[in-house]
Amino acid sequence: MSSKSKEVTLPRSAAGIIDSHAHVVREFFQEEQTEVIKRAFDSGLNHMVNPGVTVNDLDELLEIKSKHENISIAVGQHPHDAKDFTSDMRDRLQHALEKHDLVAVGECGLDYYYNNSERDAQINCFREQIRLARKYEKPVIVHCRDAWDDAFQCLTEEGQGEVRGVFHCFTGGPELLPAIEKLGFYVSFSGILTFGSAKNIQEAAPLVAADRILVETDCPFLAPQKVRGKRNEPSYVWFVAEKLAELRGTTLDDVAQQASNNARALFNLPG
Ligand SMILES: [Zn+2]
Ligand SMILES: [Zn+2]
Repeated sequence: MSSKSKEVTLPRSAAGIIDSHAHVVREFFQEEQTEVIKRAFDSGLNHMVNPGVTVNDLDELLEIKSKHENISIAVGQHPHDAKDFTSDMRDRLQHALEKHDLVAVGECGLDYYYNNSERDAQINCFREQIRLARKYEKPVIVHCRDAWDDAFQCLTEEGQGEVRGVFHCFTGGPELLPAIEKLGFYVSFSGILTFGSAKNIQEAAPLVAADRILVETDCPFLAPQKVRGKRNEPSYVWFVAEKLAELRGTTLDDVAQQASNNARALFNLPG
C-alpha cells in the first residue's frame, strides 16, 4: 500500500456505499489495481460499477468482473472515440449485450467541450448506443459536456421513453434539472462537486430528487478537493457523498444509503 494513501482519513457510514462509475483498469492503476480495489471495499464500499470507454475494453472488463463479485461492468464507446466506432464495434457491443452480464451501455454520450470527434460522429455513435440500450432493456451511462440540448434530443428520439439512465459526472446547473427529470434520468455527482469553483453544480445538488442521486469517483480522474492532486480511487467516493450530504442538509448515512439504493435500482445490482 502506498504510504500516501494511508494518510487519508475517509468519512464513512456503516451502511456502505456504491461508486457508480470507476475506471479501475490496468491502464490507470497498473500493478496497484488489485490493491486499489481491496482498499475500496475495506473502506466500506459495497459495490462499484466499472464502465468501459471503448468497446475494445470488453475483454479486460470481463476479466475484472470474473475476479470480483462486487464489481459490475458496462461497455460503450465514449464520445471522444466516436470517430473510431465502426460497424464491427457496434456488432461486438450488441453481441456483448446478448452474451454477457453488462449492467448498462456506456459510457456514451456527447462532449462538445473537447470535440475529440466531429459532432456528427458523436451523435451517430450515441444514437446507435441508445438504440441498443433500448433493444436490450439496459440503462445508458451518459457522458455529457456542453451538449445538453443535443443529448436530450438523442435520448428522447431514440429512447422513446423506454430507456433509463444516468448523467454521470454531472457538470450542469439547476436549469437542466427539469429536462433530466422529464427523461426520468439519474444525476451522478463526482469529485467536481467538492471544488470551490463548482457553484452551479453545488446549486443543483440539493434540487435533485432523493431517488435520483448517485455518487461516483470517475477515477482515476477528478480526485475530490480533500485529496486533490492525488490519483483518484473508488474509496474517495466517500468525500463526494460527504459534500453531497452537506449541500442537501442531510447526513452522510442518508446520502450513502440513498445513493446505493438508487444505483441498485438503476443498474439492477445484487444485494
Ligand atoms: Zn465520462
Ligand atoms: Zn468515466
